Amino acid sequence: MQEIIKIDMPQDVVEIIQGLCSHGFAAYAVGGCVRDTLLGVEPKDWDITTSASPVQVKEIFGHTLDTGIEHGTVTIMRGKIGYEVTTYRIDGKYSDGRHPDQVKFTPNLFEDLRRRDFTINAMAYSDEMGLVDEFCGMEDLEKKVVRCVGEAKERFQEDALRMLRAIRFSAQLGFTIESDTWQAMIQMAKNLSLVSKERILVELTKTICSSHPEMVKKIFDSGLHKEIGQHFSSLSARDAEVMAFSGQLPEEKHLRFALLFKNKSGEEAKAILRELKADNDTIKKVKILVEYIDRKLPRNEKRMRQALSEIGPERVRDWILLKKVLGEEVEDFQNRLQEILERGDAYTLQMLAVDGATLIRAGIKPGPNLGQILGELLSYVIEDPSKNTMMFLLEKVKEICYNQNCKIDQC
Ligand code: ATP
Ligand code: MG
Repeated sequence: MQEIIKIDMPQDVVEIIQGLCSHGFAAYAVGGCVRDTLLGVEPKDWDITTSASPVQVKEIFGHTLDTGIEHGTVTIMRGKIGYEVTTYRIDGKYSDGRHPDQVKFTPNLFEDLRRRDFTINAMAYSDEMGLVDEFCGMEDLEKKVVRCVGEAKERFQEDALRMLRAIRFSAQLGFTIESDTWQAMIQMAKNLSLVSKERILVELTKTICSSHPEMVKKIFDSGLHKEIGQHFSSLSARDAEVMAFSGQLPEEKHLRFALLFKNKSGEEAKAILRELKADNDTIKKVKILVEYIDRKLPRNEKRMRQALSEIGPERVRDWILLKKVLGEEVEDFQNRLQEILERGDAYTLQMLAVDGATLIRAGIKPGPNLGQILGELLSYVIEDPSKNTMMFLLEKVKEICYNQNCKIDQC
């Protein structure tokens, strides 16, 4: 006899499903939340699929947000949490290899589950009907495999992003990719060039920020890397191998990208992320780290303060983490850095014992020269923190001005 599966859903989800059912519609939790709960993992969000049309959902719940109404999705807010309620749908023909030409609503749950990417993502659940598992998703969860719903080649032909999603789920869940699905990926890899860089970046980021970032190598083994972009295609499977160590890194994308791009120059790393339309903050952080990753950790404190001054304490922390992952001895550097930070040694202009206003009062004219003088003072203080006193620095200003061959009030 088959075991009856009971999923513990949040009260909000139970109420939304009940609300729809009490009006004569069918409704289920679906996709990622069912998969994750069956795996004993807390789902990030709960999605609901229903036979009610978006207009009917809006009539029943009053306060809703049209977050994806063209695809049949309405979001119901409960406190700060949004629940996406999507009408059962069939995706029309995919002529472009990335989205359906049109989306049709259907009264049939089976049709809705059939359009989903993988068997493990194609299960639905309600307290009333139990688990609806038309494509053996539960069996694949037990076998730990990612398998397409239906004919893999066709499914990748429809939406080529699914190939990267297969790798992403295998990385997040530690699953293997079922052999027909994998063979279809190799055959259909070329189609990934049809997919937008933004969608590619989402899946790539989730892959490297997962608990099995080493699975990123599958992007190279399948040939998908050649279709991601001109700059990305300069990476190789060897570059991906280093990700085997990245499990020890926090799941922060700039750290993990920096490791993946370890053998590239800062400019090359920047070009790859630019091409993928990454945000500027990530690009900046990754570029710095890629430039630093092969540099030796300094042994003397002056060099440590210089590093703090150049890239700031957060990036220095990241640098240490990367070095550690690469098997280098970091403890001594880490301890001495800690001492520098605790002592409050100056490494920025803001930490100097004099500021621009003080120098102006002392007779220096505002302008680029003022900035230059402050920069020079900082380098003295980085060399020797005991010199960070108003008295010493003002003396030093006099000296600098003398060397510049001018009187202080003409500087
Ligand atoms: P996550 O925990 O990362 O959110 P998820 O399974 O919820 O994982 P989503 O990208 O949020 O993944 O998608 C929700 C569901 O929609 C999936 O579980 C799957 O059923 C379906 N889905 C999403 N993208 C596709 C796609 N490109 N092709 C087919 N089905 C898809
Ligand atoms: Mg989701």
